[in-house]
Amino acid sequence: YKGIKPIWCPGCGDYGILNALIQVLARNQVDPARLAIVSGIGCSGRFPAFVKSYGFHGVHGRVLPVATGLKLARPDMTVVAVGGDGDGLAIGMGHLPHAIRRNVDITYLLFDNHIYGLTKGQPSPTTEVGHKTHASPFGVSEYPINPLALALVAGATFVARGFSSHTRHLADLIEAALEHRGFSFVQIMTPCVTFYDTYKQWKQQAWELGEDHDPSDFQAALRLATEAEGMPIGIFYRVERPTLMDRLAAGAKDAVRLQSGTRYDREADARQIDALLQRYR
Ligand code: SF4
Repeated sequence: YKGIKPIWCPGCGDYGILNALIQVLARNQVDPARLAIVSGIGCSGRFPAFVKSYGFHGVHGRVLPVATGLKLARPDMTVVAVGGDGDGLAIGMGHLPHAIRRNVDITYLLFDNHIYGLTKGQPSPTTEVGHKTHASPFGVSEYPINPLALALVAGATFVARGFSSHTRHLADLIEAALEHRGFSFVQIMTPCVTFYDTYKQWKQQAWELGEDHDPSDFQAALRLATEAEGMPIGIFYRVERPTLMDRLAAGAKDAVRLQSGTRYDREADARQIDALLQRYR
């Protein structure tokens, strides 16, 4: 923690997320010099200012390309991308399935409050049909995006949902996401108490997934994401698959033959880059 006082509204769910992330970094003794937090635009965009690490406050919707570039340039760094539902599922939506299918080894925390908070309460891609705001006085007419189902069908290797008020549970999810090799997608329900206060509703709806859920079962994860009653939180899906760095290191020809458990080899990668440079010199 940098010691800078956050400037979110009192009661904002983002405090819970910051608390959870700090818990994880502290208990794992993560070296701030090996951690980078990349944000987009929105209330979540202030996140890098509060965590002792490298930080990059990018432009609207571009958090994933920046985080991907950073990870490719510095594979030794732990890279965490943070952004809101407006940032990631509207202007930034085009990047999400592509970052997922590349399976870059980064963690993406999607702060979902179902509204644009920073710009004062316009409906976002996850706002429910019929919800009235000053920008949608007759109620929202579009159906909301389901971020978990989207991540699953795009091929994400780690898909989870947390709730900012279940801080310890959220910390465990973030820890598991950071440990996962590959693209980790964590949707975090975080109420915007100022422009769309869902706190009481989500507190009633949230329930933690138990041991009866098998996170390697894709169909079960998809059913949970689309049909479950209330708001299940926990790890929906987790599977090991070679990351982008593993495939680059193996070369395009061999990439399809890679098995789970293949590890990125930095020296092999460097040799391949040298060979490419020789070819185009
Ligand atoms: Fe949080 Fe909403 Fe305030 Fe932004 S506007 S800081 S999301 S409560």
